[in-house]
Amino acid sequence: MDGPLIPGLEQIGFGGDYNPDGWPEHVLKEDMELMRRAGVNLVTVGVFSWYAIEPRAGTYDFAWLDATIERLDKAGVGVCLATPTAGPPAWFWRANPDARVLDRQGHTLGTAARGIGCPSSATYRDAAARVASALAERYGEHPAVKLWHVHNEYGVPVFDCYCATSAAAFRTWLRARYGTVAALNRAWGTVFWGQRYSDWAEIEPPVRAATAANPTHQLDYQRFSNDELLDCYRAERDAIRAHSSRPVTTNLMTTNRQTPDYWAWAPEMDLIANDHYLTAEREDAHVDLALSADLTRSYAQGRPWVLMEHSTSAVNWQPRNLAKAPGELRRNSLQHVARGADATLFFQFRAHPFGAEKFHSAMVPQAGPDTRVFREVSELGADLALLRGVLGSRVRAEVAILWDPPSFWAQDLEWRPSVDLDHRAQIEAHYRALWDRNVTVAFAHPAASLDGYRLVIAPASYLLSAAAASNLSRYVSEGGNLLVSYFSGIVNECEHMPDGPMPGQLREVLGLTVEEFLPLRAGQLVRLGGGGLGSRWAEHVELGAATCLDTFADGPASGRPAVAVHAFGSGRAWYLATSPDAATLAGLLASVLATSGVSADVEAGEGLEHVVRRGDGQDFHFWINHSGVDREVGAVGRELLSGTPVAGSITVPAGDVRIVSTVAAG
Ligand SMILES: [Zn+2]
Repeated sequence: MDGPLIPGLEQIGFGGDYNPDGWPEHVLKEDMELMRRAGVNLVTVGVFSWYAIEPRAGTYDFAWLDATIERLDKAGVGVCLATPTAGPPAWFWRANPDARVLDRQGHTLGTAARGIGCPSSATYRDAAARVASALAERYGEHPAVKLWHVHNEYGVPVFDCYCATSAAAFRTWLRARYGTVAALNRAWGTVFWGQRYSDWAEIEPPVRAATAANPTHQLDYQRFSNDELLDCYRAERDAIRAHSSRPVTTNLMTTNRQTPDYWAWAPEMDLIANDHYLTAEREDAHVDLALSADLTRSYAQGRPWVLMEHSTSAVNWQPRNLAKAPGELRRNSLQHVARGADATLFFQFRAHPFGAEKFHSAMVPQAGPDTRVFREVSELGADLALLRGVLGSRVRAEVAILWDPPSFWAQDLEWRPSVDLDHRAQIEAHYRALWDRNVTVAFAHPAASLDGYRLVIAPASYLLSAAAASNLSRYVSEGGNLLVSYFSGIVNECEHMPDGPMPGQLREVLGLTVEEFLPLRAGQLVRLGGGGLGSRWAEHVELGAATCLDTFADGPASGRPAVAVHAFGSGRAWYLATSPDAATLAGLLASVLATSGVSADVEAGEGLEHVVRRGDGQDFHFWINHSGVDREVGAVGRELLSGTPVAGSITVPAGDVRIVSTVAAG
């Protein structure tokens, strides 16, 4: 058990972004009443209110925020106070045109939206730290303020900037990384295409060029951009810490495609917070939700975390913004809680009738409180109030999937062997197969300790540092089980292939080499000797000490190994040389899990999610039924949402949730 994640909050955090700028008095009054009815205990205030707090440079006006915080405090609602630095005011842009972001295509971004100033701009950073400091000085020890929310979604919508200020900062960063231009030339392989540099001043950001830009140059620019954003966060956090003892966080977007390297961010945050939005048209969007929650918990090193944003129903930025079905917002929220969230908040409390997000759902929709959505929100608030005992309990995982954003950045560069080499799709396929068997997963950095995991899966580890590769070898030799998919261990941290055949970093532990890539045509299927199907990829595998478990039965690798296993030290390493269909992957994983001693739970049937949070002497079993069929499961204890005893079994109705507290399994 952990102590309270957010000191002063003794229930699961529940609420949303609250931006009542300029609303009339009767609406503000009604908001407090509706928060009471819904059981709201935490709201995020001021995310985009820089203009209101600092109407002119250096002149602060706290009247609106004073009144808002006092009103919430009187209503017993805690405040997650945001710094407004993702929305610099118009006066800032007018006075500081050089702080605008220049994108990779050479366009200066307009400012009539939200985002960030140039992350390397001292003008922007200083202004952001000043407003953060002013807020912390005034509200740092206010009893209503429970938590600090720095900025908004760093990296989205601006991850990098290519202006002259950023170029100068990049050169400084490169000097610190490489020391000499000669070392940079070696690391970037600039002898290729005659790109050699003789002076730091010659190096530019990798703006759009005539053709594919140097890959190591591009990868380093992403590393640099990540570091610049993290420095922006640190500056605001430190300004807050000078005046406040409350925890400081920022809302990550852990599953966003262009994600910063949050492994570097997590140790800088007092607690981990995440935003997650369903891809509404995906039938299995709840599986992506589970992945996001498991990843967020992993960034939190297994501790509880905060779901800072999700939606009550439709969002406004997808091609087709499907509304959530009745019961879905409750299942979504409780799924996050099941996977370790100790607070679950929405964007947003009350819908705005104007602005870019007027079609985004809210706890109080445009149609008002006498609506299905507000009734479901209120029912959820009542449910969460019954889960106080769950606070601080932890989720355990026996299986880890490797997750390394710089490897994803590198794999996403131009000119790869196939456009179908999609790391995210590979990870999701493996995650889905494990979710179907109710195997709880953690995500791990490839160089982090893997002790305690019975099985580690590397579905897409294209880039592996020498430290990560030796970490994996040691894990297996000491008795671990490792499953590696194709196109892993191909390059090192400089984006160079090590000497000798592929996969250079993993040849020894896998007991095989890859002589040639044989990517498949779009839609082409290959048969495997064991009856399975592969797509996207095949390759010419030469076995060393590994044993072949299945072969390609046709296609360009016909007769060659498709699946192999290698006994290495006290452990085993499996290798998968194609992208199997779901049934083939499920069959392989069932066997790998059994050999690795990982218990799966498929007793209750398809679509029934089962996750356990462990507290002091108590286990909390969450059963979430995503199917249209009632399911029955075995349990002994007490159902927390109804308060009724459970003696042997319980029915989880279609679309519903049951949470049973039991005596800990030990
Ligand atoms: Zn810039």
